[in-house]
Amino acid sequence: MNMEIFALGGYGVVGRNMTAVKVGDEVVILDMGIHLPNYIKINEDQETLKSSLTRKHLIQEKVVPDDSLIEDIRKQVIAIIPTHAHLDHIGAIPYMAGRYNAPIVCTPFAGEVIKAILKDDGIKIPNPIKTLNPGASMKLSKNITVEFIPITHSTPQTVIIILKTPAGNLLYSNDFKLDNSPTLGRKPDYERLKELGEQGIKVAIIDSLYASTKAKTPSEMVARDMLADVLLNMDTKGKGIIVTTFASHIARLKSIIEMGEKLNRKIVFIGRSLAKYCYAAENAGIYKFSDKVEMTKFSKRVKQFFGKISKEGKHKYLLVVTGHQGEPQSTLSKMVRGVHDFPFDANDHVVFSSNVIPSPINLKNRQDLEDQLRARAVRLFTDVHVSGHGSREDMRELVNLIKPQHVIPSHSPPERIQSYIELAEEQGYKNGFTVHGMMEGQRLIID
Ligand SMILES: [Zn+2]
Repeated sequence: MNMEIFALGGYGVVGRNMTAVKVGDEVVILDMGIHLPNYIKINEDQETLKSSLTRKHLIQEKVVPDDSLIEDIRKQVIAIIPTHAHLDHIGAIPYMAGRYNAPIVCTPFAGEVIKAILKDDGIKIPNPIKTLNPGASMKLSKNITVEFIPITHSTPQTVIIILKTPAGNLLYSNDFKLDNSPTLGRKPDYERLKELGEQGIKVAIIDSLYASTKAKTPSEMVARDMLADVLLNMDTKGKGIIVTTFASHIARLKSIIEMGEKLNRKIVFIGRSLAKYCYAAENAGIYKFSDKVEMTKFSKRVKQFFGKISKEGKHKYLLVVTGHQGEPQSTLSKMVRGVHDFPFDANDHVVFSSNVIPSPINLKNRQDLEDQLRARAVRLFTDVHVSGHGSREDMRELVNLIKPQHVIPSHSPPERIQSYIELAEEQGYKNGFTVHGMMEGQRLIID
């Protein structure tokens, strides 16, 4: 029996991940994400109500994957399965999932985030959300079973998806890194991966974003040490401390909280997306923020918050805010523009626990924000961060462990696909025969 793989999104481009796998007369969709910079662009051009956005318009603007390649087999889809809660893997669900008469199967955390997005954006979808814990399996049909293998990344409950089918097993690892000292959650389940490798894996689809980086990505523990160095070992007496990071990075937020506690400062989180992901983590039983942090997302309360901070003295607080990419509507941008009343002084500490996602919009926004911050003479600490994506040696290690017959690089621009192909060739794969560089809109049939 054949296995057909449809590269719908995220092949030759970073973002809008979506893959369809067809075996017999059944189809499984893996990930349904948006292209974040393009999404930000359409919202900047025109402040649109999210519930009024259509799939057709979003395909045109290259925000969501073009799924017309599977139009003929649309009714054969039996499940939509995202790997984790990042928007480039789940963000298109509100706009596209309703076209498929299939449940969404995801971890509890991803499920909570999807529900929060649907609620915030006022969108309803008919698909039931079925949750599956990392480490567990679920029968999707008589012939196909899905298993979630715990893997490490930069948001909780990221999994490697295993599809067990009559045409063989498929492994989908999009996104991952091999973190042996995670600061939240489990280590990758190497034992189970090895076991599955011994049983035989027909195809592995692998996050190859950093295939050209000749390294192994450091652990989140390293990012924690970097943060400790900046937050605990600098003279912050009497100064304001403001930290910004990815709202979905619950492990990083946990580290920041632990350091705020060591500094004896009250910790406040300000910004809508922070509240969204933190409540999702609480609901999924991953981390309890509410007894350690004061949190607000509503603009009226934000004003009260800043009033209180000014009155009591900012040196008593550690602020965690949105705005690491310089987004003009984020809390940090509003603080520096004076929309929020925050008394910046020379030598306040502003920590970016993030990298800049290198799209032209982000680069410009972030430059503008840094210029404004520098005009206030604050101390800037940038790149206090370690990536959630594996590098070349993480990829080599994973493939050594699972020994798939075929490999397909995903999640990367064309030049990184090329780097991955070179790596695969080093491991004995043959370009076009057992390693397949795919682009969006292509289909591959594996015997
Ligand atoms: Zn991710």
